[in-house]
Amino acid sequence: MRNLEQVYINGKFVTPQGTDRQELVNPSTREVFGTVTLGNEEDAKLAIAAAKAAFTSFTKTSVQERAAMLQRLNDAILDRTDELAEANILEYGAPRMAAAGRVKLAAANLMDSKEALEQFEFVHYIGKAKVVSEPVGVIAIITPWNASYSQITAKLGAAIAAGCTVVIKPSELSGLQTQLLTECFHAADIPAGVINVVNGLGATVGAELTRNRDVAMVNFTGSTRVGKEIRRSTVDSMKRVTLELGGKSPNIVLDDADFAKAIPAAVRSCYMNNGQACVAGTRLFVPEHRLDEVKLLARETVLSMKVGLPSEADTMLGPIVTEKQYNQVQHYIRAGLQEGAELVIGGEGHPEGLEQGNFVKPTVFANVTEAMAIAKEEIFGPVLSILTYRTEEEAVEMANNTDYGLGAYISTSNLKKANDLASRIQAGVILINGAGFEMKAPFGGFKHSGIGREYGIHGLQDCLETKTITGFDLPM
Ligand code: NAD
Repeated sequence: MRNLEQVYINGKFVTPQGTDRQELVNPSTREVFGTVTLGNEEDAKLAIAAAKAAFTSFTKTSVQERAAMLQRLNDAILDRTDELAEANILEYGAPRMAAAGRVKLAAANLMDSKEALEQFEFVHYIGKAKVVSEPVGVIAIITPWNASYSQITAKLGAAIAAGCTVVIKPSELSGLQTQLLTECFHAADIPAGVINVVNGLGATVGAELTRNRDVAMVNFTGSTRVGKEIRRSTVDSMKRVTLELGGKSPNIVLDDADFAKAIPAAVRSCYMNNGQACVAGTRLFVPEHRLDEVKLLARETVLSMKVGLPSEADTMLGPIVTEKQYNQVQHYIRAGLQEGAELVIGGEGHPEGLEQGNFVKPTVFANVTEAMAIAKEEIFGPVLSILTYRTEEEAVEMANNTDYGLGAYISTSNLKKANDLASRIQAGVILINGAGFEMKAPFGGFKHSGIGREYGIHGLQDCLETKTITGFDLPM
């Protein structure tokens, strides 16, 4: 049993004021493997005070000093890649084949922030004015469980590059991963108070971070529901907010696409991260007259993917993070059946032989209509909804007919058409013909998928205030 009993404030691991404990549960077996002690409002206040005190000197550090800190943070994480990956497998159920890559991605975020810092012009001139970018102040970083390491480092990298100090409240479901990552931060020899980490619930630690007047900005990733709550609770103290929220991303396959490539890729995109990815392409739009072919290809793809213990090298789909989330996915599969969608593969219950953990059957529905819950709501599990269109016009209209606007995928052999569709789809990130993400480029959502952008220079800019000075060169 791992009992994690400390939070990290002002450069030290300390016993929190909060005494409640939360069990840490292995999603593959539903066995408790440890506990984490949750901080409370007092701990959040102490962490904010430490970040505020450290801000005064941290804001005066040079670009070179902060770049060196980002390098040390990157190195400290990479030094413990194996341990961090094992924690990701145990606590979150990440398939082994992806776990080490996730750690490296988290470290790479820090190097991208370093590069952005080294390129950024903190002072420039417009007309007779000198325009200066200054760190916004103390930043509260609040993150979800589905990509704990990289969500934290993307936000931390931007804050450090900007010269801001932080209080991090990771998901209460990531106790072990948080502990190891915080040990890396400690090993990186960052000045005391610059990075503070407080485990705790959203309703206690999270709420204090969003209302406290000494926090200048909240950088949040999580559900749209909580994002809206945070936006409301930051109004009185006029905080800046960056909100990276949920999605129901469309994947449009045009008639001229190579279906043998595009459909397997569409299934994989929906199932990435065990189906628990904000940018998962969960709504697949295909031409009506190709539906039979699509169903066949989707079925074959699912059958070729191994669902199993995340510790096994060839597992592609591991369990869902918690029993609660497992039940949520089951609820949506039932809703799909009740609302009349056609089950292509998968369905309710556990896959055979995997009854102990939170494993779900990777599921594909066809003949889904826009009115169905499985076409409208974020399921956060491996459930793909196939919808059909008659014209490309209709495909775009349906793709945009959602409150969300995070990602979108397009497959076609006509690049001109692809770029035209990209310009008409309301989403923050568009991936054409299986292209991957560019982690130095801005990431974020339209509409209810968020406010602001993360990563690289755009992430850094979000952590800065702008000051315009005229007369800076005028003698009296
Ligand atoms: P969540 O919104 O339930 O929780 C996210 C974080 O917010 C947690 O740390 C939680 O403790 C905290 N929180 C909860 N209530 C709070 C409150 N009132 N005040 C302050 N903090 C509070 O999300 P989750 O279930 O952990 O993660 C899944 C969600 O995250 C999905 O909707 C997914 O789409 C989204 N997500 C978005 C992105 C993106 O970049 N857009 C990336 C990953 C995940």
